[in-house]
Amino acid sequence: MEKKEQLYEGKAKKVFATSDPALVIVSYKDDATAFDGLKKGTIAGKGVVNNRMTNMMMRLLEKSGVPTHFVEELSDRETVVKKVSIVPLEVIVRNVSAGSFAKRYGVEEGIPFDEPTVEFSYKNDDLHDPLLNDSHALALHLATKEEIALIKSYALRVNEVLEGYFLSLGVRLIDFKLEFGRLQDGTIVLADEISPDTCRFWDAATGEKLDKDRFRRDLGGVEEAYREIFKRVTEKD
Ligand code: ADP
Ligand code: UDP
Repeated sequence: MEKKEQLYEGKAKKVFATSDPALVIVSYKDDATAFDGLKKGTIAGKGVVNNRMTNMMMRLLEKSGVPTHFVEELSDRETVVKKVSIVPLEVIVRNVSAGSFAKRYGVEEGIPFDEPTVEFSYKNDDLHDPLLNDSHALALHLATKEEIALIKSYALRVNEVLEGYFLSLGVRLIDFKLEFGRLQDGTIVLADEISPDTCRFWDAATGEKLDKDRFRRDLGGVEEAYREIFKRVTEKD
């Protein structure tokens, strides 16, 4: 698969065209940002971990009935995926209070929920990704009613599959962010990444954070945390 011109450079990944207009190549960088891009840094080896871990998760989810953009891993950092037009919603699923949920609603982190929650943010950097509900998403024509229902059901299925999978590695899946996209024919598929950048992982025995919160909160041991979660998923593979 030939890599052609760069279509986009984001904070964590680059996207390249290929000879096939339906496919793109995603290239994962070590660059890390947090707090709306205010905090910047590098996490050595992150691109490799996020690329390979995302692909493992996408394969597992495909087997579990969630259609994804995944096509083929090219190398440590590069993967061929189906080109989609991204639905501009960040879909966040939570099992335990943490991060912006804890802050917004004035509760401690670490409170397990009876049922997982699903929420949407409007994926719009200029507006700082504001929280929005289904009717706002409809009013803004971000997605149709049917798409919203499908996206929510896929997101909950992803949670079911990944929560059990990570528990088997001794890891609690606290929360995560998904992005979905539309193929040429309108089919909704899971896109973007599933990695320690986009999930919160807490060691089930010690509560140790094994995700990007180590970078966001200056907890130290950032590279080690990425390596540790990667070691657990690859040893299981
Ligand atoms: P950001 O844009 O937030 O800085 P990244 O650095 O991760 O994020 O850039 C990757 C971009 O590629 C994101 O905007 C993401 O929505 C988009 N993307 C993810 N999967 C696909 C895909 N299959 N087709 C097209 N774009 C995609
Ligand atoms: N998340 C993400 N990208 C974002 C916002 C959130 O990947 O732009 C992930 C984040 O890593 C966490 C979950 O979504 O696993 C919930 O994040 P939260 O809303 O608590 O926001 P944060 O505390 O990261 O600001």
